[in-house]
Formats: sequence, C-alpha cells, structure tokens
Amino acid sequence: MAIATGARPVVGVLALQGDVREHAAMVERAGARALPVRRASELSEVDGLVLPGGESTTMSRLLETFELLEPLRERIADGMPAFGSCAGMILLARQALDGRPDQRQLGGLDVVVRRNAFGRQVDSFEADLDFTGIEGGPVHAVFIRAPWVEKAGDGVEVLASVPEMPGSEDAAARIVAVRQGAVLATSFHPELTGDERVHRLFVDLVRQA
Ligand code: GLN
Repeated sequence: MAIATGARPVVGVLALQGDVREHAAMVERAGARALPVRRASELSEVDGLVLPGGESTTMSRLLETFELLEPLRERIADGMPAFGSCAGMILLARQALDGRPDQRQLGGLDVVVRRNAFGRQVDSFEADLDFTGIEGGPVHAVFIRAPWVEKAGDGVEVLASVPEMPGSEDAAARIVAVRQGAVLATSFHPELTGDERVHRLFVDLVRQA
C-alpha cells in the first residue's frame, strides 16, 4: 500500500465506467492526488478509492473482466477508505434490491439499497440537503436514477436524507448519504456541482486511516 505523503494522500478513482474525470478533478481540489484505477497493480498504489456513478450492473461485470472484484473486496475488508456515489453506493452495499441476479457486491457498507428507487416518481431531481459533518450550509444534491438506502445496520451513520420524495405525497425520509467507518456513500453526484465539500470529507477519512 502507498504511504500517504504528508497531507496529500493518493486517492484512486475506479475508471471502468462513469464520470471518472469529474471525480478526479474534485479529488484534486479536495487536496489529494487522483489516480485512475483500472487494474490491480494500480489499486495497490492508492490510499483510498472513489467509485463513481454509472451503471452498477455494468460496473459489476467490468470489475470481474478486469480481475478487480476480489482485490477490491480484499482492500475494502482490510479497511481501505472508499467513497461510492450512486452506482458506487450500490456496489458497496451488502445487498441491492431491484438489481440483476448476477450483480456482484463489494461489501463494506452494512446497508440494503434499492436501485432506481426514486425512478417511480421522477428519474432525476435536485435537492438541498443538510449533511452531517459538512459545515457551511446545505449540500446541493443531483440525483440521476438514484438508489436510496432502505435498511441500515447498527454500525452505519446516516448523514443525509431526502425529507420528502419530490412529486409525491409520501413523506417518508429516504436515506441518501451514509458512513460506516472509512466507507462513505451518497445516492447523489457531488462531483457535478462544483462543491467539493463531500470529497473533502472523504479525503479527511483517507488522511485519518
Ligand atoms: N441506476 C444506476 C444503477 O443502478 C445508477 C445511476 C447512477 O449512477 N447515476 O447502477
């Protein structure tokens, strides 16, 4: 494993699919060095890893093709900090509902997520969220065919919820950001809004690890 050099750790961005460039830019803005990760040798060089949005079924298949599934599971089980956004959250979950039967989980987060959960009401929407651990006002969150967390285990801290489902009478709070130890996940895409506070939170977790 790479040794974090001073205050500038190396944060990998899983580069199989999805908005890799946007995450890499945010990682750099948050004070870390970004490294695209496509193979196991690259994974061994990073202090933490971002799993971007995209399509979790495709990413799961690509993880197997690129022989990254097992190495990544091992690193996460070993305590490597990881941040999954949207499809990345789905991959980190213990279980995904409405997934494909052959969809593989990386684990790391003791949650059950539902894929495309908001899709029944709206495909995409934006919301301003109070986010535990982030100062300076609400986080503007962009949701794109997003999952939500339907069940969270005792060790999981809920960081943000959507208080009401947009366009719906259903007032049930839906969990959209969680943390368990050094594993962080959001249903939404903080790499798209120009606000690097969520990435900063993650880089801080990497520094502490
Ligand atoms: N719906 C996608 C999935 O199930 C996630 C969408 C996204 O990452 N923006 O993987």
